[in-house]
Amino acid sequence: MESYNSFKVAQQQILEAAKILNLDEATIELLSWPQKEIKFTFPVKLDNGKVKIFHAYRIQYNTARGPAKGGIRFHPDETVDTIRALAGWMTWKTAVVDLPLGGGKGGVVCNPKLLSERELENLSRGYIRAIAQFIGVDTDIPAPDVYTNPQTMAWMMDEYETILHAHQPGVFTDKPQQIGGTEGRRDATARGGVITVREACKILDVDPAGKFAIQGFGNAGQRAALLHHELLGAGKLIAVSDSRGAIYNPDGFDSTELVQYKLKTGSVLNFHGSKPISHESLLELDVNILYPAALENAISSANANNIKAKIVCELANGPTTPEADLILSKKGIHVIPDILASAGGVTVSYFEMVQDKYSYFWDEDVVHKRLDQKLTKAYHRVYEAVKEKNVHPRLAAMVVGVARVAEACKLRGWV
Ligand code: NAD
Repeated sequence: MESYNSFKVAQQQILEAAKILNLDEATIELLSWPQKEIKFTFPVKLDNGKVKIFHAYRIQYNTARGPAKGGIRFHPDETVDTIRALAGWMTWKTAVVDLPLGGGKGGVVCNPKLLSERELENLSRGYIRAIAQFIGVDTDIPAPDVYTNPQTMAWMMDEYETILHAHQPGVFTDKPQQIGGTEGRRDATARGGVITVREACKILDVDPAGKFAIQGFGNAGQRAALLHHELLGAGKLIAVSDSRGAIYNPDGFDSTELVQYKLKTGSVLNFHGSKPISHESLLELDVNILYPAALENAISSANANNIKAKIVCELANGPTTPEADLILSKKGIHVIPDILASAGGVTVSYFEMVQDKYSYFWDEDVVHKRLDQKLTKAYHRVYEAVKEKNVHPRLAAMVVGVARVAEACKLRGWV
């Protein structure tokens, strides 16, 4: 498998888009680096009475189109470069779906699996005490990411409001609904992805009733299975996987039963009527649609030549390496890139911010309808760029996102 620095890859993607857009040197330099990086340490009192110092980041990549927006990760392998790359991708993602937001990301270098509930709460509150002055409803709005969740956001929001002596729910998104969260957030990422698949099937004349497979049966993967049937009216789910293994049934699984089974047993393995297959072979099945919904670099130069799907919908962040991207493009496989396919989550986060500002909340069907409008429009804008510039969809999505951010920087007189 290729090994590379995510931020170098992200910078290379910007360069490629900038070349197509004929951007000047100053704009390229501006867009190739974060505007603001906050690197800090903070203490947390552990259950055993000792104090541990944690290293953390918050990066605001570009705010020309609006406040920085992006998650906070609790992860042992976090580095400044992974956060820079992710903050940059959030910038292009919010621009591709045309949200009035910039991009950001944060993280704490820690292993949350080794921390108790109380230590996690102390960690969340300590992080906010250290960065409260840099975030806000009009400056930078965090959300959950790897190993953080709505409960983390609830603690963080409470700490932030305590510091400000004011009710400010819109400063975090993906909060529990009881304290300012929105309807429709839980399945927003998968819903956005399936909407883009629906549009791609129409354009490419791919049968949505055909076979599909899902790598990674967690939050995004499970929701994608259910929504694929709901939004496309059909489809046969023939293979799924999780970290413990992959399963296959050529006749198709009952997605609802499979989700219940996974929730009950913790794995998809041994589901009735299934045959175990290898992780690798799931990706290489003859399906119409493949949803990578697990980790980075699942499709690399080692397996890209064997991929047979007609459409690859990247629900995961960065599941395809740059080398694999070129191979898939040459094979004529239509990749719906992560900055478009997984943009449903941030889109509904934006809806949450709007509702929090007005203190007036929408019904679920309104959220779904508005999400559908945003993602459908974004898909077609990217597809137009594919044709206009004669480039593969990832580069086309970058061209659309980078062009919008560059234009905002220019209008502001930054470059
Ligand atoms: P999750 O932790 O709920 O699910 C991940 C699943 O992948 C788990 O079932 C896990 O067992 C499985 N997995 C891990 N290693 C695997 C492997 N080698 N092969 C097959 N399966 C494996 O996470 P999630 O929230 O569903 O996110 C999945 C991906 O989608 C991540 O890349 C995430 O960054 C991206 N994403 C999620 C959201 C969201 O709103 N949940 C938004 C944008 C992007």
